[in-house]
Amino acid sequence: MKKKIAVAGANGKMGQEVVHAIEGADDLEMIACIDPSFKDGVGECSAGDTCGFYSDLVEALEVAKPDVLVDFTRPDVVEVNLREALSRNIDCVVGTTGLCAETLEELGAIGDESTCLFVAPNFAIGAVLLMKYAQDASKVMKKAEIIELHHDKKLDKPSGTALRTAQMMEGDPEIHSVRLPGLVAHQEVVFGDVGQTLTIRHDSIDRTSFMPGVVLACRRVGESSGLIVGLENFLDEE
Ligand code: NAP
Repeated sequence: MKKKIAVAGANGKMGQEVVHAIEGADDLEMIACIDPSFKDGVGECSAGDTCGFYSDLVEALEVAKPDVLVDFTRPDVVEVNLREALSRNIDCVVGTTGLCAETLEELGAIGDESTCLFVAPNFAIGAVLLMKYAQDASKVMKKAEIIELHHDKKLDKPSGTALRTAQMMEGDPEIHSVRLPGLVAHQEVVFGDVGQTLTIRHDSIDRTSFMPGVVLACRRVGESSGLIVGLENFLDEE
C-alpha cells in the first residue's frame, strides 16, 4: 500500500518541488496540498486528481488522514503545524529551518511510541557530505569560518545548515551570512593554518537537489520513532 503524504507549504518554492517529487515516487501518494493560497479547497499544482487542496492544516489532517506530513513552510508557523500533526501520531518530515534544539526535543516527545519527527537542516546529499568532511577537517585544522549564501527571500539567518555544521565542528567557527538575488543555497567552510587554507564548498544550484533526500525521508520516517536530526541517519542504511 502506498504511503499517504501531505505537504504543508505546497505552493511555496520548495513545496512545489516536493509535490512534484512525491508524485513521481511509485510508493508514495500525494493526498493533501496545504497552503494559505489554496482558498476554498482550490489550487493548482502538479498533484494528481486524488489530492485535496487545503488552506487549513488541521482540516487537511482530519479529512485526508496522511501517514506523513512534510513541512516546508516558515520559521514562525512550523512549530504549530508539527504540534497538530504529532499530537495525531502523524510522522513528520521537516525541511523548514529556524527551530531551536530545545523546541525540537520537546516536539519529538509528542505522539505515541511509534511516531517520528525527522528534521533535516539540508536534504541535499552534497551538503550532508560537506558537513561530514568539515567535521573531520576541524579535528586537525582548528581555525575555520563558515560562509553561507542564500537567495534574498530566505527568512532566517544564519541558515540551519550553517548552524548544524558549526555544531558538528570543533573550534566554534564563526558564521557569515550572505543574502543576494540569484543565489539558491550555498555554503563554504574555510580552514586556515600556517601558510595554507582549505576550502570545502557545496552549491545547490537548483531546488531539485533536495528532492531525493525528501523522498528518502518520506520512505524511511515510519521505521523509527522520536526525534531524528540529519539525513545522514538514513543514508548510512542505504
Ligand atoms: P516559501 O517559498 O516562502 O514557501 C513557504 C510556503 O509556506 C508559502 O507558500 C507560504 O504561504 C506557506 N505557508 C505559510 N504558512 C503556512 C501554514 N501555516 N501552513 C501551510 N503553509 C504555510 O519558502 P521556501 O523557499 O519554499 O522555503 C520553505 C522553508 O524551507 C524555509 O524555512 C527554508 O529555509 C527551508 N528550506 C530547507 C531546505 C532543506 O534542505 N532543509 C532547503 C531549502 C529551503 P505564504 O507565502 O502565504 O506565507
